[in-house]
Amino acid sequence: MKKIVSIIAALAVIISAASCSNGNNTPVSSASETTTVSEPEKTSETTTGSPAETSADTEAPAVTAEKSDSPKYETYAALSPEEITASLTLEQKASQMVMPAIYNVSVDDMRSGDYGSILSTAGCIGSEAWADTVDGFQKAAIASEAGIPFIYGQDDVHGVNYCLNAVYFPHNIGQGAANDEELAYQVGLITADEAKLCHMLWNYAPCVAQSVDPRWGRTYESYGSDLETITRLSTAYTKGLIDGGLVACAKHFFADGNVLYGTGERDDTFMLIDRGDAQLSDDEINELLKVYQAQIDAGVQTIMISHSSLNGVKMHENKEYIMKLKDEMGFEGFIASDWGSVQHISGSSFREQVITSVNAGIDMLMETDRFDEVRQIIVEAVRSGEISEERVNDAVTRIIKVKKDAGLFDDPLLTDMKTEQTVTGSPEYRKVAEKLVEESLVLLKNEGDVLPFKKGTKVYITGPAADNGQAQCGGWTMGWNGAPTTDVPGTTTILEAFTGYAESYGIEVITDKNEAANADVVLLCVGEQSYAEWNGDTADMELCGALGLSGNKAAIKAARELGKPTVTCIIAGRNVLLAPTDYDGWDSVVMCYLPGSEGKGISDVLCGCSDFTGKLPSPWYSSIDQITTDECWLERGYGLNYGEGFVPETETEAVSDTQTEAAVDPAIEGTNYTAGQYKDGVYVNEYAKIKLNVPGNLSFIPIDPYEKEQTLAELTDEAEIALEKAKITDAVFGNLTELIGVYFVNTDIVYPVIFPGAEEVTEDDVLDAYRAYTEGFAGKQGIRVDYKDRETVTVGGREYLRDVAYYNGNESTYEAMCIRKLDDQLLCCIYYSSGNPDKTPEYYDSLFEELK
Ligand code: BGC
Repeated sequence: MKKIVSIIAALAVIISAASCSNGNNTPVSSASETTTVSEPEKTSETTTGSPAETSADTEAPAVTAEKSDSPKYETYAALSPEEITASLTLEQKASQMVMPAIYNVSVDDMRSGDYGSILSTAGCIGSEAWADTVDGFQKAAIASEAGIPFIYGQDDVHGVNYCLNAVYFPHNIGQGAANDEELAYQVGLITADEAKLCHMLWNYAPCVAQSVDPRWGRTYESYGSDLETITRLSTAYTKGLIDGGLVACAKHFFADGNVLYGTGERDDTFMLIDRGDAQLSDDEINELLKVYQAQIDAGVQTIMISHSSLNGVKMHENKEYIMKLKDEMGFEGFIASDWGSVQHISGSSFREQVITSVNAGIDMLMETDRFDEVRQIIVEAVRSGEISEERVNDAVTRIIKVKKDAGLFDDPLLTDMKTEQTVTGSPEYRKVAEKLVEESLVLLKNEGDVLPFKKGTKVYITGPAADNGQAQCGGWTMGWNGAPTTDVPGTTTILEAFTGYAESYGIEVITDKNEAANADVVLLCVGEQSYAEWNGDTADMELCGALGLSGNKAAIKAARELGKPTVTCIIAGRNVLLAPTDYDGWDSVVMCYLPGSEGKGISDVLCGCSDFTGKLPSPWYSSIDQITTDECWLERGYGLNYGEGFVPETETEAVSDTQTEAAVDPAIEGTNYTAGQYKDGVYVNEYAKIKLNVPGNLSFIPIDPYEKEQTLAELTDEAEIALEKAKITDAVFGNLTELIGVYFVNTDIVYPVIFPGAEEVTEDDVLDAYRAYTEGFAGKQGIRVDYKDRETVTVGGREYLRDVAYYNGNESTYEAMCIRKLDDQLLCCIYYSSGNPDKTPEYYDSLFEELK
């Protein structure tokens, strides 16, 4: 299933070795810098002799620079997309039509495969590390035989949300509440600028879905229920992205938000609504198509097809509408499929499904694991005549046109790229996001004018959403379902904003519940958990229901018991169902949606620095029964303000919006540990005296520095917790079947738990404990573990003690753990995992060089 990152599944046994990181690794390509200019490939006719190939497709263009030493992309720069396409072999063309996920390909694969695109979604690292990662693949792409630059795609749906310290804007639902076209344009521009700092040029946004049923998990990705508002805001955003230099992607074509409750996809996962069936009349269809027409008119370069069905037909095979985009609506960009969706259309085999979707007009296939299969199927289907070469040429020409227009053929490594800012998360950009937060707040009630907080007010701030960056940012932030921790780098929570600016607001903030009785007013922050896609589908929608934050109920009760005027902020991705007794007991209620990183937008409005202007972007229902009827509790467009006579207080400029570092791992504190560096295919850790020449088939794996906290939250065994706490992952390189990891263990943390009272712990003892751990882990999965005799080995000129474990008697699948005592506090561990019979532990040993 998607995004259960397959590398983790494939290498489950190494979880203990690779699940945490200090986040200091700097990924740089190991791709060779040398580019070769080979003769332009002859036509596919000469290579295949297939009757399906027409002479029109097989004319080689006049590539004048073919014998020069310049990189091939420069040669292409003088050619039209049609000419470039015509110069490629059928195999090279099919390669352009696929999109692997980053963790499924190495730079070597890119050099041999020259895939058209790579999809992101793994890890959250800083912009420089992202840029290095993307460049590594780009160097390989332009050094490949075809030499076509690839394009890197990512879901930057509310800012560059997989980049540490970037600005995370309110999700679309909040932008719908703000309904400010100029700000929507700014969001596009800023997202483009920060994405360019990461060298990621293709953004899978905007989502232009119409949200109809708030039980849908993607409600917050929509600007609301009104098509005119969606059209205005999404086109402004798309123009911003394009003006900022990005490739936009309108999604999901179409009617993704109009599917019926209960019709969700049921193939391998139970989805209540998501990916279901929209049953629409021609008139309704035409209204939805107008949103896409506006996107096309605004210049959108790509469109992503919806996982859902329209009147019973899966959109990925709905040729009638896909071709309408190209034939009638003037769309000149390319059409991408959605993640794994081709596998859900009709057809008795994957082969048939691929052929059907390509023939339906899809140009690039997001089959993130099966890309090589897709490529082969396309090649064979052209040879057999099941896909015309003309169709393939159309797809590839479109893909190349988009890349050319994005400048990738002029400057694939973005050496001359201009950005407005030099770092992500600049105060200027945060200020824009803060303004958008202010405008996105909807005041539902304000009895007794509790708001704005008057000078001198003592405010007791409580509730599970008060200091919770994870809930505030929602899904698609640092990870697919949201941040792994409540402490999101670069994010100012509501509580942080109130406490940070209390003095300038002239209020007093109380957070200690023992002091709550002294407060004049209670600020109660409740909300939903973070989720993405069908994980947010829900039958109940209640604030204290299945998707509510676990502390909501208790916080609501405790606040009620204080008997003080109460202001409630709801942080949620939809208009949740509220219990009337709760709502009636609150004096003021503010709907904040998912505001993102700038909590100060909320404190500013509640303290009277600005008025409320936000309006509900879709109706608010008081019961499930009202959904999809004309009845509702509050109409779309509802929203109060402070009213006449309101004079805003002077707002203090944000001063604390500085770049936040990922927290220092306590495992490192007080040790001699220094982080290793990875550059140009060589990893070096000076302190541990390790030098590793990383083979080209292994990729640097970006590891989320916050994953450790997440793993810790899931563990229950004391020894496992101690080990996890004590571990520092320095670097991991891998592909689907191989992995090399280097990590350190702080023995001060782990020994007292695993060897209580022991005066001395030897490396043998450590490996014994590790055996017990491995066997326990494997045993739970019914796997037998055998060991090679323990041995002392020399790796990079230094001695390590090593265990090699084989699973179920299979000598070609093993894990090797080499350990060495580094000093009184640190153990150094080098770890190999391989499912490749040719890659023995000795092979990996030979990759290390002695470092004096
Ligand atoms: C979602 C898309 C997203 C894609 C890539 C899909 O499952 O539907 O919105 O762009 O994954 O992450």
